[in-house]
Amino acid sequence: MADRPFQGTKESFWVSNRGTILVVEDERAIMEMLRVGFTYEGYEVIAVQGGREALDRLQEGGVDVVVLDIMLPDVDGFEVCRRIRSRGWDVPILMLTAKKEIEDRVRGLDLGADDYLTKPFSFDELLARVRALLRRSGKKSEAVVLSAGDLMLNVETREVTKGGKPVRLTPTEFALLELFMRHPRRVFTRETLLNRLWGYEYVGDTNVVDVHVSHLRSKIGDRPPRLIRTIYGVGYAFYPET
Ligand code: CA
Repeated sequence: MADRPFQGTKESFWVSNRGTILVVEDERAIMEMLRVGFTYEGYEVIAVQGGREALDRLQEGGVDVVVLDIMLPDVDGFEVCRRIRSRGWDVPILMLTAKKEIEDRVRGLDLGADDYLTKPFSFDELLARVRALLRRSGKKSEAVVLSAGDLMLNVETREVTKGGKPVRLTPTEFALLELFMRHPRRVFTRETLLNRLWGYEYVGDTNVVDVHVSHLRSKIGDRPPRLIRTIYGVGYAFYPET
């Protein structure tokens, strides 16, 4: 994949090939969320629904990380994991485990998985884990410092500064700001932000988004014309050039 800039912004963050993710999941809604999310973030996604197909695809090579569900229609995730390692393949594996099943997590790790995430999970949490696995395995092509004017956000150290002064954000505020800064001018609906930051199964009042945006604006001293603009009737968008 060739380098490409995010479109329509002066502060272009150059995104190079971030890696190829093999997603093994038979639940269509989850698969679709992962496919869309990872593709948007600049990853190549290979989507398969079963364990055998996953092993066949891995045989061909070129996969940087595997996101592997346990419950699959044919060979289950544990067995896929075991076979990957028994063939000597060292591709990082992140397993998706069912809620509260601690034995599942331990078993996955025992079989050679590198990490696990419990369903339901937020896409951003999964993205953070995948990034970490890619970093550990030597793929380092992420933009680490995002900036807009005198606002700087360091993805790795989790530090935010405004005019050189540190800004203390909660994890949610940080995730929100990172999402905005990675996608300048993109309009996010409140529902999208809820799904991205609180999990795809989150059901609740979207006012919670307004509260967090309001706190974030206040902490980064965001006065009109704002970086984080309200798009009336829709949601929010980040405009780095003001
Ligand atoms: Ca499944």
